[in-house]
Amino acid sequence: MAFKRRFTPRRKFCRFCADKDLPLNYKRPDILRDFITERGKIIARRITGTCAFHQRALTREIKRSRQMALLVFTSTHASEVKKKSTL
Ligand SMILES: [Zn+2]
Repeated sequence: MAFKRRFTPRRKFCRFCADKDLPLNYKRPDILRDFITERGKIIARRITGTCAFHQRALTREIKRSRQMALLVFTSTHASEVKKKSTL
């Protein structure tokens, strides 16, 4: 396969598996932020290289973090999300 590396990280393995000390927790938005786009979208596993297990945990923590409003959201977006979360 002829992949051009655009924004693909060099290391293509799970960072959480590689570094056991790396906390995967909603209380650490500084780390979660590496796995979301500027707009707050979760970056696909094939791009970050995160394994299935950790990606699932990551998704959960990111969603939790959003609810806790620890992650920076677009301010207009944030109020919409709050309304939608009750659905
Ligand atoms: Zn992993």
